[in-house]
Amino acid sequence: MTENLLELRDVSMVFNAGASQTVALDNYSLTITAGNASVITIAGESGSGKTTLARLVLGFARPTSGEVLYRGRNIWTMSRAEWQTYRREVQAIFQDPFAVYNPFYTVDHLLLSPMKSFGFARNRSEALPQIEEALSKVGLRSADVLGRYPHQLSGGQRQRLTVARCLLLKPRLIVADEPVSMIDASLRATILDALRKLKEENGISLIYITHDLATAYQISERMEILYRGQSVERGNATAIIQTPSHPYTRLLVDSIPIADPEQTWDTEVEIPTDDAGGGSERQGCLFRWRCPHAMDICANVRPSFFTVGEERQSACYLYQNHSMLGMEE
Ligand code: SF4
Repeated sequence: MTENLLELRDVSMVFNAGASQTVALDNYSLTITAGNASVITIAGESGSGKTTLARLVLGFARPTSGEVLYRGRNIWTMSRAEWQTYRREVQAIFQDPFAVYNPFYTVDHLLLSPMKSFGFARNRSEALPQIEEALSKVGLRSADVLGRYPHQLSGGQRQRLTVARCLLLKPRLIVADEPVSMIDASLRATILDALRKLKEENGISLIYITHDLATAYQISERMEILYRGQSVERGNATAIIQTPSHPYTRLLVDSIPIADPEQTWDTEVEIPTDDAGGGSERQGCLFRWRCPHAMDICANVRPSFFTVGEERQSACYLYQNHSMLGMEE
């Protein structure tokens, strides 16, 4: 049986504010196997639950219900030694490369410190060959960054530095939450390429979280679309973008600008908002207020996943008959 590296099992995250509740993630499940490294994109609009998902995977927040398992162990009941291994093997890259680093420390210190903490080097001279190799892998020259302070580097250099810092800790999984959204458009491809190479050259799996379907297309083989804390479509990334099945995914894909290939997809500009209705209502399909195909059943019972093609699933009643016609996995 294939061992799972990471498993989110029926995870929900609910935030209470006075009398009101916000469901950020709703009975969500995800598996990343420990065998071949893989890249999965989690895509959705602002408020879809994707950043909550990142925080849960990284152990920054405890789910309201359900389990986050790493190598089969619930991260919240791990021993101290298991927790240390998990914290080293699961690394993060965040959106803002300007906010990550303490401005009072040099790049050397920022790279050396975690290496010492996790026992990869005792001093600078021991660490230097590894640091130079990691910098080179992300396209940075040590002469350009060592001895400098973070504010002396560009945003692109800083984000590549973050990737190098992750590499030094020999992780198995990296959670990259909108890693290129604050990077100059001309440098995005370079950062995405560095992330893609982590899988190919270092066997590191990646959870790539984004609102930008265009970049998802470049980097990942699998994709999930989140809507209001639930997965609504999942499968091969290329197939989803070329032939989206769920009405929400179709809306997202239709909003990718075609005329100008330099312009990325931006939900805040292109996607109609959720004002069509729903509020905190969680019964039935959560997309039905915006859906041009809504039927009676959509208001009553939450759709489960139906098979729409090879390794493609859509949580939409439009595909119920596909499964009934014998397309189940
Ligand atoms: Fe539309 Fe119904 Fe499908 Fe929801 S389940 S996306 S409301 S057709």
